[in-house]
Amino acid sequence: MPKEDLVLLALADEQIQRLFERALAAADYRVAIASDSSALDRVLQEATPALVILSQDFSGADGVTVAAGLLERFPTLPVLLFLPQDSPEVVRKALHAGISDCLFSPLKVDDIMQAVENSIRRANRLGDWTRREVRRTTASLQQRVDELQKFDTILNHIEDGVIIVDEQMDILLINPAARRAFGIWKDESLVGKPVLEIITHPELRALVTGGLSKVSPHHEIMFEDGRALSAQYTLIPKVGAAITMQDITYLKQIDRLKNEFVSTVSHDLRSPLTAILGYVDLLERVGPINDQQREFVKRVQVSVQSITSLVNDLLELGRIEAGLDTQRELVPLEGIIRYTLENASGQIVEKRLDVAMDLPENVPPLRGNPIRLRQLLDNLVGNAIKYTPDGGKVRIEVEQQNEQVILRVEDSGPGIPPADQPHIFEKFYRASNVPKGVGGSGLGLAIVKSIVDNHRGRIWVESVVGQGTTFTVVLPLGAEQK
Ligand code: ADP
Repeated sequence: MPKEDLVLLALADEQIQRLFERALAAADYRVAIASDSSALDRVLQEATPALVILSQDFSGADGVTVAAGLLERFPTLPVLLFLPQDSPEVVRKALHAGISDCLFSPLKVDDIMQAVENSIRRANRLGDWTRREVRRTTASLQQRVDELQKFDTILNHIEDGVIIVDEQMDILLINPAARRAFGIWKDESLVGKPVLEIITHPELRALVTGGLSKVSPHHEIMFEDGRALSAQYTLIPKVGAAITMQDITYLKQIDRLKNEFVSTVSHDLRSPLTAILGYVDLLERVGPINDQQREFVKRVQVSVQSITSLVNDLLELGRIEAGLDTQRELVPLEGIIRYTLENASGQIVEKRLDVAMDLPENVPPLRGNPIRLRQLLDNLVGNAIKYTPDGGKVRIEVEQQNEQVILRVEDSGPGIPPADQPHIFEKFYRASNVPKGVGGSGLGLAIVKSIVDNHRGRIWVESVVGQGTTFTVVLPLGAEQK
C-alpha cells in the first residue's frame, strides 16, 4: 500500500493528536491537522485525504454528527471515530452513521495502525468496485446509445414512412419518408403533436382512429396526386402504435399497364371467337355430318363458349378496374340477395344445400352500382354453393354498423388453406383446395375485389380447412365513385 496517503486528524485532545501523528508518521503517512470545523472543511476542499480521524467531541460538536455530515458530502471517505472510553451506545450510533471503525483509550500504536489500514483498504476496495461499476455501466450505456444511433440512421434512410404514436395518439417519432409522404418539408419538430393534426387523408385517419379496426391491417391509400401508399397500422404494447407506409405507386402503374394489355387482347379475341362459334353453328346446316363429327362440333362449341365467358370476365374486370361504372343509385340489398338466390335455386335444390339468410328489417339501401353489386353477390354466393359439398350449409348475413353495411357469406365447405388465402383475390388464382372437376377461371374473386374497391369498401376472408369459409364485405352506405 502506498504510504504517502494523507490522513486528516480532527481531534480535540492535543496529546492524543500527537500520539496519532507519531504513529502515522512512523508508518510514512502524511498528516494534516484540523482544529475546528472550518479548518476541517478547508482541508477537505484543498486535499483529498484517504482517511479522517475524528474525536467524539470535536470543536464543541458531537463527533458522530460531524462524521454523518462529512459522509453525506463524501460518501466514500472513511472516517474513524476516537472515543475517550468504550461506549457501546456511541459505537452503535457511529456504525449506524456509516463510520468505518472506532478507537478507544487507552490507545496502542498497533491498534491505531490496524484500524487505519483496514479502513483505507476497505475504502479503496469500495472505490475500485465503484469505478469498475461506473465503467461497466458507461460502456453498456454507450452501447445502447450506439444502437439507438444506428436505429435512428436506419429510420432516417429507409424509403418507407414510419410514424410511432403513444397511446394518446401523440407522435413519438416520425421519419423523413413519412414527412415527405405528407408534404411536411419544414424542419419543425412534430414530436408530441397529435398525429391527426398531420394526417388529413380520410382513409388514413379512419385507419388510425380504429374506424376500420375490424378490417385487415393493410390499406391501399390513394392520394389525389396519383400516389398510392400501402399503409399498415400495428399496435405496440406499452408504447402505442406504429403506422408504416410503403409507396406502391410504381406497382399500381405496372398493374394498370398489364390491365390495359389484357383488356386489349380480350377485346381483340371477341370477334374471332364469335366468328368461330357462328361457323361451327353453320356446319350442320350446310350439309350432312356423321355422329362423330356432331360430337366433335359440340365439344368445339363448349370450349369456345368457355373461352368466350373467360374473355367476357376479363373485359368486365377491365371495365370495373378502369372505373367506368360511374352509375350510382340506391340499391336495396335484400332485393339483390333474393335475386341471386333465385338464380341459384336450381343448384341449391340439386345439392340439397341448407341456405339461410339473416337480414335485419331496417337496413337502408346503399348507394352503389346495382349491376356490379349483383355481380358481387352472384360470385360470392356462387362460390359458396359451388365449393360446398352436397347437404352443406350456406348463410348470408347482413348487418348495419353506423354508416356501413357488413355482408357475410359463410359456408360449411372445404375451407381455403392459409397459404392460398392471401392470393385468392388475384386474377386467375385457383387455390389448391379446388376439388377435381369443379370448373372456374379464377377471376370471380378478382372481379368481386374490384367491385368492392370501386365502392370504397373492404373485403377479407376467414377460413378453416375442413370447416368452412366466410367472406366479409364492408361497404359504406353512401359509396361514392372512387
Ligand atoms: P374460381 O373461378 O376458381 O371459383 P374465384 O376467383 O371465384 O375463382 O376463387 C378463387 C379461388 O378461391 C377458388 O379457385 C377457390 O380455390 C377459392 N375459393 C373461393 N371461394 C371459396 C369458397 N367459398 N370455399 C372454398 N374455396 C373458395
